[in-house]
Amino acid sequence: MKIRLATKELLVDSIVDGEGLRSVIWTQGCSHHCKGCHNPETWDFNAGIEVDIEDVKREIDNLSLQDGITLSGGDPFFQAEACTEIAQYAKGKGLNVWAYSGFTFENLLKVDDMRELLKYVDVLVDGPFEINKKSLTLSYRGSSNQRIINVPKSLKDGKVHQIKKYDRKK
Ligand code: SF4
Repeated sequence: MKIRLATKELLVDSIVDGEGLRSVIWTQGCSHHCKGCHNPETWDFNAGIEVDIEDVKREIDNLSLQDGITLSGGDPFFQAEACTEIAQYAKGKGLNVWAYSGFTFENLLKVDDMRELLKYVDVLVDGPFEINKKSLTLSYRGSSNQRIINVPKSLKDGKVHQIKKYDRKK
């Protein structure tokens, strides 16, 4: 199976895209087109590079210091099937999984393959970037409408549980 990425590197280390040291998979393609988006070059679904997810898995095998992986973009949920396989693989290796989406948690639940991906996500940062709610003091998100969600607990209870410790300002 293939996945279209925004970067030549399959995994990019980061300390700002989720808690701890993370390896980010920057997916290509996003139709949310949020005003003020930091990565408009990731919008085009035909840009970037297409890679085999087996190559991504091999890179995951080489991680040692990282706490987990982060699926970002673009919006990784537009490539939900490939991301599900990657997230499942990472979790099998003991890594935690964060994901960013311009969709809300509630809307992701309505689409079969997106809901399936959520089963392998520990923490979701959801919702579009809203420039009038932008704040540089927020942890791990760009605007205050975005929520940092405990996905397993939210799926179990059928309602959104936000992770309170990330509410505090930087
Ligand atoms: S969802 Fe993210 S990548 Fe897509 S337009 Fe909005 S801010 Fe940009």
